[in-house]
Amino acid sequence: DLGPEQQGRIVSHFGVQVDVEPHPYTPDEHRIIRCHKRSNLGDIVTGDIVVWRENTDDTGVIVAVNDRNNQLSRPGFRGEMKLIAANIDQIMVVIAPEPEPFQGLVDRYFIAAEHWGITPTLVINKADLLEDSPYKSRLNELHTLYTGLGYDVITASTHSDAGMNELHQALKSKTSAFLGQSGVGKSSLINTLLPGSDILTGQLSESTRKGKHTTTTARIYHFPTGGDLIDSPGIRELSLTNLTKEAILEGFKELHPYIGNCKFRNCNHQSEPGCAIRGAHEEGHISDERFNSLWRIIDSLEESSF
Ligand code: GDP
Ligand code: ZN
Repeated sequence: DLGPEQQGRIVSHFGVQVDVEPHPYTPDEHRIIRCHKRSNLGDIVTGDIVVWRENTDDTGVIVAVNDRNNQLSRPGFRGEMKLIAANIDQIMVVIAPEPEPFQGLVDRYFIAAEHWGITPTLVINKADLLEDSPYKSRLNELHTLYTGLGYDVITASTHSDAGMNELHQALKSKTSAFLGQSGVGKSSLINTLLPGSDILTGQLSESTRKGKHTTTTARIYHFPTGGDLIDSPGIRELSLTNLTKEAILEGFKELHPYIGNCKFRNCNHQSEPGCAIRGAHEEGHISDERFNSLWRIIDSLEESSF
């Protein structure tokens, strides 16, 4: 005795069971329905948009999964890719005056975001520490660099409330995830943006965390000021993995007009004549900082695959 077909979104997934909320989200009609999925449906992950039908006992059944705009995955056992979440619009890459910020790290997140088809936004957190930071000029340069590339850069602080309005605006009507090194303030930002929820702090002990599947599987939250968050400890520290040299080149969006235009189809972009990538650098279409970063990232991947 199943009810009519309805649109839903997966709030979190636990093997054969998933939690679903009505989609699109409206605060007044919000509820969560534990659903089973039909076995022919394949993987269903947090963020998926689905069609579901309600049982008479407050549970439901997933009957179809919509095509995904994108998906996040990470290498699991035996190199198989493990799906983490789907349909993320935006990644907030968080850096701060401490721990020490590195351009290479930001580029790695941005490459991964471009590869996944997700818009990256740079958040420079702990703005209250900027003035006295030994990395002040480095952070200002990063601000200029990524703004110049057409990315949004937001300077914020959870201690002074700087940048909070900008963050609210950037998060509205989108599904976002926060990524970045441990200690940059992701939990603090999320707790500030999601008042009243303390499930996301890094203060949970490891045993508490293991005992609660809700903290290890990706989960959707709704910002009271609009927009959704997909979060899990795994998402926060995702990094660049298993990308080919070509995917890395494509992650540098200023190179897009030049990719595929080298004289030789199998160009390594080293010293071949007619290399469009090196040409782009010589003509100033990619900055020295980004060009050097590109090769450092490619070299590091090549080393780690030996
Ligand atoms: P996460 O590991 O990225 O989730 O970082 P946390 O949110 O746990 O923050 C790490 C440390 O940075 C904590 O001691 C926070 O109190 C501190 N912190 C977070 N945001 C700010 C900020 O805007 N300014 C300053 N000065 N400290 C901050
Ligand atoms: Zn080339």
